[in-house]
Amino acid sequence: MMVSHANALKSCAVTKSVLPGCVRHPQKFMKETVYSIEAAVPRALFLIDDGRHACASMARMMLRVGMLLAVLVGAGGQELPATVAGQLDGREKQLESLYADYWRTEYKIALGDHALSSRPIQEQIRTVVSDERFLSNLRNAKISDSLLKTRQNLYLNEAVYTKITNDPALTAVVEQITQNENGFRFKVGDRQLSRAEVTDLLEHNPDRQLREEAWRATSQITGVNGARIQKAIQLRNQLAVKNSDEIFSIFLLHRKGLEVEQVFDWFDQIKEQTEPEYQRLLKRMRNELGVAKIEPWDLDFFFSKATNDFEAQKFPTDDGWKKTKELAASLGYDLDPVEMHVADLGFGGAAYPILYGKEVKILANRYSGIFFYDRLWHATGHALHYQMVNEPSFLLRANYAEPMDEGMAQVMALLLYRSEVNAKLFTLTPEQASVVDAAYRLKLLYTVRNTIADSLSEFESYSDPEKDPASVYNRIHAEYLGVDMHDAPVWGFNPMYGSDPIYLQSFVVGEMVARQIEHKVDEKFGRNWGKPAGDYLRTNFYSRGAEQSVDGFMRGGTGEALTPRYLVQFLESSKN
Ligand SMILES: [Zn+2]
Repeated sequence: MMVSHANALKSCAVTKSVLPGCVRHPQKFMKETVYSIEAAVPRALFLIDDGRHACASMARMMLRVGMLLAVLVGAGGQELPATVAGQLDGREKQLESLYADYWRTEYKIALGDHALSSRPIQEQIRTVVSDERFLSNLRNAKISDSLLKTRQNLYLNEAVYTKITNDPALTAVVEQITQNENGFRFKVGDRQLSRAEVTDLLEHNPDRQLREEAWRATSQITGVNGARIQKAIQLRNQLAVKNSDEIFSIFLLHRKGLEVEQVFDWFDQIKEQTEPEYQRLLKRMRNELGVAKIEPWDLDFFFSKATNDFEAQKFPTDDGWKKTKELAASLGYDLDPVEMHVADLGFGGAAYPILYGKEVKILANRYSGIFFYDRLWHATGHALHYQMVNEPSFLLRANYAEPMDEGMAQVMALLLYRSEVNAKLFTLTPEQASVVDAAYRLKLLYTVRNTIADSLSEFESYSDPEKDPASVYNRIHAEYLGVDMHDAPVWGFNPMYGSDPIYLQSFVVGEMVARQIEHKVDEKFGRNWGKPAGDYLRTNFYSRGAEQSVDGFMRGGTGEALTPRYLVQFLESSKN
């Protein structure tokens, strides 16, 4: 994508694409199944009433159990809800274990172990989750307990999702896309640059001609992956229509707790309400850069220009994790159990929910300066959520509304731009802190619009896969950013299109969530967030999973429904 996904908003990049079951532990699963039947039957039935004739008694007991089950299963073949509940427990536990294998494998692959593949695990998961007998029992079970009903719905939805995303033909294409991204080097002049190096060049290099060359070079990955990404789009749509009667983008948006009309309406509001500020920004860019026309390769550079003279010195990457832990500790959080590595990645960075509440890892891309910290703190926000989420089953922990997770991640990232934080952690002077703050407001004005354009391009490509993705992408970006895209097929540089489809809108909605949470926490605790603010965030947000909808989260934690108002207010304040 333009310079852009070099940019602040994108990164977490890792979302789920699998789901488990019992294939790897057949014995364990049988035991759990049997246990659940026992648990469903009144204990008295198991008392053997004649110690001298154990065998006969056992037979009698089995008969009684059988009769009881026949009664409870009842007409219409519906299974005893408690039995289904026990089986659901067992399946969720196995699912958790398979997911852990999946995430550990993905983590190693991202770190460079290209001989590994997570496809066999995805296939196991698909096989298990597609078990029609269990799905049918689950579907027909009459469940009144509301939490159990939530889990029933989550599992059934997960099954559809897995049939789509873990389809063997699709996972083969996606794996190829990811492999190409991981090892890719961009040829700029006679140099071979990693994603992080291209990003750094676009942000910091004053040589405009070199930046143009680097920006054009980002389209090289489209040459390698573009056709495969289009193939993945077609496959996802076919699989979604077959399994859910919706095209993929709509099915997935629903799964994430959003309605397409609502999302597009928020996008419109943000674009319209920030249009005057954005036009003012473009004018200012032209003046300060001394150019008649702003080009795509000027954007990121403009935003880092203001901080260039102190950024490398004040934001060294060597003690990044130490500073991050200090930030977390100031809120009363402990990051010691979280493992973090810096590496050359094919995406912006990520947090891996290997076992929610127990084992969480972070990968940070080898970026530099403020952007390095921006992405690391964003990933840390995800990690804190995965570490603290405290709901009573795996699906409840794992299937939180995605925009909420993004918002919780972004709450950490935005602390980087607050003078109360960066004066202390990075020893910025008040003048430097205000330069960082002002530059960030302007940059966000651009990145939010850019991400909206990324997202709209993706929705259009799913609704009309025959269209050339480059022309869709460039038309929408030209409209939202006011720059000429020069017919360059740079769209494939965005790693989200291949491996994390229909995720981009969650960055924008997550930004709204983060600003609304920030506003509430400031109102309650003032701008110096300490342990009481940390406790509030933990109770209302970081510890929560799928029990609540987006609306439930926001009303519960901030007292009002989700609104773009706080984000727009922040962006408009760039004029001050
Ligand atoms: Zn994220």
